[in-house]
Amino acid sequence: MSGPTEPDNPAQRLDARLAPGLAQREAEGLRRQTRTFQRRSATRVQWQGRECINFCANDYLGLAADPRVVAAGEQALQAHGAGSGAAHLITGHSPEHAALEAELAEWTGREAALLFSTGYMANLGLAQALAGKGDSLVQDKLNHASLIDGGQLSRARLIRYHHADAEHLDQRLATAPGHRLVMTDSVFSMDGDIAPLKQIANHCQAHQATLMVDEAHGLGVLGPEGRGAAAEAGLGPAQVPVFMGTLGKALGGFGAFVAGSRTLIDYLQQYARAYVYTTATPPSVAAMVRAGVAICREDTGPRDQLAARIAQFREGAEAHGIPLMPSRTPIQPIRVGEAAPTVALSRALAEAGFLVQAIRPPTVPAGTARLRVTLSAAHSEADVEALVAALATLWK
Ligand SMILES: *Cc1c(COP(=O)(O)O)cnc(C)c1O
Repeated sequence: MSGPTEPDNPAQRLDARLAPGLAQREAEGLRRQTRTFQRRSATRVQWQGRECINFCANDYLGLAADPRVVAAGEQALQAHGAGSGAAHLITGHSPEHAALEAELAEWTGREAALLFSTGYMANLGLAQALAGKGDSLVQDKLNHASLIDGGQLSRARLIRYHHADAEHLDQRLATAPGHRLVMTDSVFSMDGDIAPLKQIANHCQAHQATLMVDEAHGLGVLGPEGRGAAAEAGLGPAQVPVFMGTLGKALGGFGAFVAGSRTLIDYLQQYARAYVYTTATPPSVAAMVRAGVAICREDTGPRDQLAARIAQFREGAEAHGIPLMPSRTPIQPIRVGEAAPTVALSRALAEAGFLVQAIRPPTVPAGTARLRVTLSAAHSEADVEALVAALATLWK
């Protein structure tokens, strides 16, 4: 018999190969873990037997629990069944998917839209389909992991520019070989700041580069009708030919899409492997998102409510000397620095009934660990007031 340190079958050998990596994350205090939450409402979750106010969700408009969204999903579930059963190009494309694509195109002011199963996959598919060997993918240093991973997949040269630095982008573009595809988050997911999209678009124009904007955190939240940060900056399809949005954040559902010219969408449908080779999302999901889009477009109430909560949080936190980062979006990070105290703060907040995520390396650079508060239109004024009071107490 061999002990656990002497693997004698392939399964044990695999575990033995993986164990040091796990031990390393553990030793650095960086090991991540799933926690299980029972959701009670848009902002309340049950965790370890206590009710907590959730400040960790991307449900910025409170649509995930909106009765109109839920009812649309239930109706479609009865009409179409559970799963889509196949990829979009086989038999998985339902009337709900078709209607949603048309509505997303209209909403974003583009000729056409194409659904992807997740934002992660949309970004992989875009990078892989639109850039190849000999081309340049030019990306903000703090872009979402899916854009960076898409860069690897494309086999194009991956060129990074300093975060939100349009002048550095300009320099990078001057020497970038091949076709140049510039990709940027509109709202940065860990910092909450907004890319200088107007300047970026100008440099793309000057260098004949293509601009792709990932509106995962902008769509529904910013701009007229919630059409995102690019629309807010006055940029349309001519400046931003490749528009990517996700449907699992402010839209309250699940999935993602790319919007652009008819030609772009036709091309992606042929060449984006992450679109072609995967099962379509359930029709009920498309139906829920359709309801979310309609609310987003017609009702400014949730956006106004969200803006009021953001202003309230910033004012309150600043009054107590809590170091915020420059953000006017629902993502409001609080700078801490080292990972261990950040985690300790997050734990103490949870014990006080507030769920606030600790963000640590490798998600953010070493030494920039932070608490990340995300606000929602579903939070009440009292919710935010209570959070600020708890933070103020812990901060001392
Ligand atoms: C969340 C996110 C994604 C991924 O979207 P999913 O639908 O969750 O896979 C892509 N880009 C950015 C900037 C994001 O924040």
